[in-house]
Formats: sequence, structure tokens, C-alpha cells
Amino acid sequence: MSLYEIPITKLSGIGEKRASLFRKLGIDTVGDMITCYPRAYDNWAETTPIAELTDGERYVVRARVSTPLNNTRISGGRMMAKLSVSDDSGYMNLVFFNNKYISSMLHYGEEYCFMGRVTRDRYGLQMVSPEFTSASTADAITPVYNLTAGLTNRMMIKAAKDALAMLPEVIKDPLPYDILRRYELCPLSYALNNIHFPPDLQAMERARRRLIFEELLTLNLGMRLMKSRSYEETAVHMTTDYTGEFIKTLPFELTGAQKRAVIDCVCDMRNKPSPMNRLIQGDVGSGKTAVCAAVCYHTVKNGYQAAFMAPTEILAQQHFETFSRMFDGTDIRIELLTGSMTASEKRKTRERIENGESDIVIGTHALLSESTVFHNLGCAITDEQHRFGVAQRAKLASKGEHPHVLVLSATPIPRTLGLIIYGDLDITIIDELPPGRTEVETFYIHEDKRDRALGFIKKQVDEGRQAYIVCPLVEEGEGDTELQSANDYAAELMLGAFRDYPVGILHGKMKAKEKEAVMARFAENEIAILVATTVVEVGVDVKNATVMMIENAERFGLSTLHQLRGRVGRGRYKSYCILVSDNRGENTEQRLGVMCRTNNGFEIADMDLKLRGPGDFFGNRQHGLPQLAIADFSDTETLAQSQEAAEYLLKVSPDLSDDAMRPLRAKIRQLFSTTENTMN
Ligand code: ADP
Ligand code: MG
Repeated sequence: MSLYEIPITKLSGIGEKRASLFRKLGIDTVGDMITCYPRAYDNWAETTPIAELTDGERYVVRARVSTPLNNTRISGGRMMAKLSVSDDSGYMNLVFFNNKYISSMLHYGEEYCFMGRVTRDRYGLQMVSPEFTSASTADAITPVYNLTAGLTNRMMIKAAKDALAMLPEVIKDPLPYDILRRYELCPLSYALNNIHFPPDLQAMERARRRLIFEELLTLNLGMRLMKSRSYEETAVHMTTDYTGEFIKTLPFELTGAQKRAVIDCVCDMRNKPSPMNRLIQGDVGSGKTAVCAAVCYHTVKNGYQAAFMAPTEILAQQHFETFSRMFDGTDIRIELLTGSMTASEKRKTRERIENGESDIVIGTHALLSESTVFHNLGCAITDEQHRFGVAQRAKLASKGEHPHVLVLSATPIPRTLGLIIYGDLDITIIDELPPGRTEVETFYIHEDKRDRALGFIKKQVDEGRQAYIVCPLVEEGEGDTELQSANDYAAELMLGAFRDYPVGILHGKMKAKEKEAVMARFAENEIAILVATTVVEVGVDVKNATVMMIENAERFGLSTLHQLRGRVGRGRYKSYCILVSDNRGENTEQRLGVMCRTNNGFEIADMDLKLRGPGDFFGNRQHGLPQLAIADFSDTETLAQSQEAAEYLLKVSPDLSDDAMRPLRAKIRQLFSTTENTMN
């Protein structure tokens, strides 16, 4: 019988009532308790001399009881016990409330380890109700678990100990022996025991690495199996390759990487029973739009409609204009569908889409509405796909009969991570920028240098160039203050430094029409300096803009900064990015330093992952990945190894159908059972 079938109430001291508290933590069974890993560890060996304690921090102090216990009765009939302890460097007071056993546990003159938060009052340093253990018997490291009201860490420790005691002498390891050996992983039983109760930090690390590896491997295998599962047959058949004749009409030569991307797509769409399911990942400015245009042209010439969805109105509008220019002189009918159009405009547009009177439909979320019906959708493209959820991506595809699907992303995600997130997609990476681009030179300046930066912007504008200024970020949920602060900031510039210059303002609270009007004036260089919130982050293209100045730069993720920076350096002029921050923290220096050092989006994403953790990528779990128990994606080395191991195992045993792989198959089922509804 599996430990996952033995209820938690089988552990001693856990009755129905307490079991309900464990259940709140998701622990129903003995097996669940074993895989409820500690969230941290207290290290009793890491002691601090009393003289070095500071107010408000948590410490372990090794000290001798130096006064007799003083028991007093306080308000409400409660008992308060006070005593002092000392080490070579000083003394501190301990206070316990309502603990009648203290006098029998702490003895005058003996040495103990005390752990707790230190506070300072007029009598000196003190700890209130610290945990303690005799100095001679202290376990060096004790686990710290997530708790819920009514459950103490002590109870969790006991439950974990009892649960581990129920592990059979020999546990069958789900990881094959050659994997364990090759990646120098400890066996499962060692890992389980040492993740809870490690004798030292090395043992904990070994256990941790093994468990992370196993979880990432399981995730990897699951995603790969899903990918190999045969897709529904597509009803969209494209026989002739029309991309060549389109590419000839472009005003520029495609880069090698763009050409490869087009070929990948055409191959996917041609003479195959399953539809294309591809991600094109390319840094800002790498020319993904032209690739899409070629794919759309190809789709239309083969007799189908194409849809191109963008996350913002501005971007949809811009794509519409780009496409209109590119397809000028052909008989291809292009349509724009966005939420801000009037009801009657939308209705008429939708009629044309449904009747097959339009060929390429560019739009925002409005494309997803029930009332948008396609005549014969052959290819569904999503731009800046990280802005959409997995479900939305699927929704657009559902508008045709298993049409070809292409998604684009400029958010560079480290390759190993991308393979996991997009495991169900084929990936093309555009790793080449169109020729003639110069790197955007990036500076990180302190606020007191802002005036010089503004002077620099003036000089650029005097030479005919334009600039973006991203104004200070306002915390989310502060409502109208976003507008207020953007307006205040712009007003300050308009009345001050840029008195004699045309300044425009762009923020999220503006109506789509207003935003478009402002963007249009910026594109025409009627506005020289555009003060904006991060709404300019996505995709907007103004070649004459050469300066991007970002206030409060430390508050943005590196990937966002990189996206913002990608708004300049799009034309033939040398461009600059100025990061302004009043924060001199070490992490800020390091993060903004990365921006100054490199223009490579992938490298930046890697650093972001290392410095900020994966929260950025997985904040709202919009990628639909299952919840992980111990792994995160910041350990890129283990990630890469698990990747390699997954490939190897699938080679040895396609579909993992070998009997020896049964435990791993069970693990995959278990992991993915949590997100069945979102994976499709
Ligand atoms: P992104 O990949 O960020 O969406 P875009 O498709 O907006 O990039 O392209 C950025 C700019 O580069 C556009 O102005 C586009 O016209 C131009 N461009 C794209 N491909 C090429 C190329 N092969 N040669 C020169 N310019 C190009
Ligand atoms: Mg783009």
C-alpha cells in the first residue's frame, strides 16, 4: 500500500481535529506529510555573541543561565517568568508567559541555545518565549514548516519524524540507476530523510538537489509527452509555397534568421496532417512582424483567412498600418478589429470576416469575442504571447478547424526554461538583428544627474531626434494617482526643462483613440518628447526616437527595462537609454549594471532569473504549468541537466512505455493532475 493511501490520522497524536488542520496545508496522507518539504531551516550551529545582536532580528544565542528564575503574576492571572542569560560578550533577558515547566527545564548555571527575535527595551536586550535546547544535545539544523493557526512547528516536526519512520526499509527509486549515477544524485530514501532532518547543510543540499532534479525531470517528461501526443488532424491544407514572391516585394532583404523562421512555418503548414504549433522567439526589433506578414500572405494565397492578435490597441493599429503598406498593390483585404471601434463599425467588420470578405484580420482581444466568426480561418497568430494566457491562445485557434497556430514572443526566456514552458510548441529563435543597427548605449545615473540627462535629451531633439521618458512608476491599485503622477511629471517638464519643446503624454488611463492620436503625432514628429507610463513597452515602432529615459528604473524587472529600451535604436541613428534611480542598493547596482553591459535579451533574462527569481515569469501562472513542490526555475544548471535526462529517457523508452518507467509515469500523472483543466 502506498503511503499516499494512509491517512494522516494514522500518525500518533493526530486525531480528527488536528487532521483537519493538516488538511488545510494540503496534507491528507502520510505520503503528503513526507513531501511537505520544509520552507526553511533553523541552524542552531550558527550562533551570534550577545554583544553583536541587533534589535528586531532573529538569532541563535548560546548562553548560560546567570540569574535564578523570577516568577511573577501579571494581569489576567497570567504568569510571567524572567531570567537572564550571559555569554562572554554580555547578557540578555528572557521572558516566558504562562509556562509552568520553565523552572524545571532551564537550570541556573547551565548552557543552552536560545532562538528567537531580539528586542531592546530600557532594561536591555531581550527575547520573548524563545525556543531553546540544551547546548550539548542541540540538533544542528531543524526544519521550519509552513504553518496554519493551531499547528506549531513542533507538531509538524513530530509528524514529519513519525511519517518518515513509516517509510519502508527499501524504497523503490523512480529514477533509474544510470540517471542517479550520471548526475550524482542521492537515492530517494536519503533525500526524503535529509530534506527534513539533515545533519548538516551539505546533506540538505544533496537532498534538495535530488528532489528538484526529480521534479523538473517529471515536468519535462510530462510536457514532452504532451507534445508528442498526436494532434487533431487539421482541415487546413496548403500546398504551394507563396512566401518567395512576397519576400521579393519587401523593401529590405530578410535576415538569415527571418528566412529560417519563414521556412519553418511553411514546412509546418505544408502537407502535414497536424497543424503548425510554433513559437517564434526573437529579441525586440528582430523583425518578427515581417515573418508574420509572409505567413499571412502564404495563408491567404492558399485560400484561407489569417488572424493576427496583439495585446494593445496601439500595437494592433501599428500592425494594421504596416500590413496595409506591405500588401499595397495586392488584392489582399486587411481588416482591423479592436474594442474601441463603435458598435456598428465592429458589427460591419465582423460581417465581412464571417462572409469571407476579408483576408487578414488584425485585432486585439476583440477577436476572441463569441461574435467574431471566421469564414475559414487557416492561421491564427498571437503577438507578444506572454501578454495572453494559454486559454486565450487556445480560444483564437478554436475559431477555425484546427488552424495553424503561430505565437510570437519578445520576452526572451532562457532556452532551457522556454523548452519547459513551451514544451508543447515547436520553437524558432530569431537570433539576429537586421543589419545596420547600432547597440543602444545605456547609462545608469543617480537622480542628482537628471538635469544633465535632460540637457542631453534637448541636444538630441535639437538635432531632430525624439525621446521617450518613462515617468515614475505608481504602485498598482493607487487608482487615479497613476494619471495624477504622469500628468504632474509631464507638467513639470513642460513648464521647466522642455518649456520650448513639444511634449506629449501617454498613459494607460487614456482612451484608445486618444492614445492613438498621441502616438500618431509622435510618429509624425509633431511631438518630440513623449512622457509615458509603461504602455509604450510593447512593440511600438518610431525609428527617429533615439533616447529612452526611465525614471525609478530599479522598480522594473530587467526584462521590462529591456523591452522599453527596445523602443529606441530601431533606425539608423545612434541611440541611448538612461536609467535613473535614487536607490543605491547593491542589488540595484548589479541589476542596472547588467543593462549597461549587454544588449542581449537572452543574457538579460538569464540574469533577471538569477537576481530576481522566477516570480517574474510565473507571477500569475499564466503559462498553465503545474504547481511545483520544491523546484523553481532559478537553478538553471539542474534545469539543463533534467532536460538532458528527459531526452535520454525518451530515447531509451519512447512514451516511457517500459515497465521500469512505471514509477516515473505515475509521478507525471500526479504532477499534472493539478492543472488538467488548463492543459490542452
Ligand atoms: P519585432 O521583432 O520587435 O516585432 P519588428 O517586426 O517591429 O520587430 O521590426 C523592427 C523594425 O525592423 C521594423 O521597422 C521593420 O521594418 C524593420 N525590419 C524588419 N526586418 C528587417 C530586415 N530584414 N532588414 C531591415 N529592417 C528590417
Ligand atoms: Mg513586434
